[in-house]
Amino acid sequence: MPPEIPSEQLPQTEEEWRVRLTPQQFAVTRQGATEPAFSGIYWDTKRSGTYRCVACEAELFSSETKYESGSGWPSFWEPEAPDRVTTVVDRSHGMIRTEVRCAHCDSHLGHVFEDGPQPTGLRYCINSAALDLEATD
Ligand SMILES: [Zn+2]
Repeated sequence: MPPEIPSEQLPQTEEEWRVRLTPQQFAVTRQGATEPAFSGIYWDTKRSGTYRCVACEAELFSSETKYESGSGWPSFWEPEAPDRVTTVVDRSHGMIRTEVRCAHCDSHLGHVFEDGPQPTGLRYCINSAALDLEATD
């Protein structure tokens, strides 16, 4: 698989994103929605491979850092590389959380919490709808 889609080839408007993504992918990645726990296609996946951004195909997470968090969402203790994601303080829903976005296309991916396993102690809690697994097994 080639790397991520070049920025100039990505949709520029909300309408273009709607055409490119399914309604659920659009709601999650462009509007910050959260899929219901245990509903996504990857929360229980144990296949090997690379999880790419569903919107721009950037490599975001490796199956090697995916772990069973019991949350009902795909959980990782580290991104593929530190610069693959950005974080933003999210004060919605009466909580203070740290939102995780794709560094390449700014799509909402999920949130990161400080109750993950070592070595990082982090839990990247990511929506399946924001991911596309490129399986290697
Ligand atoms: Zn992306």
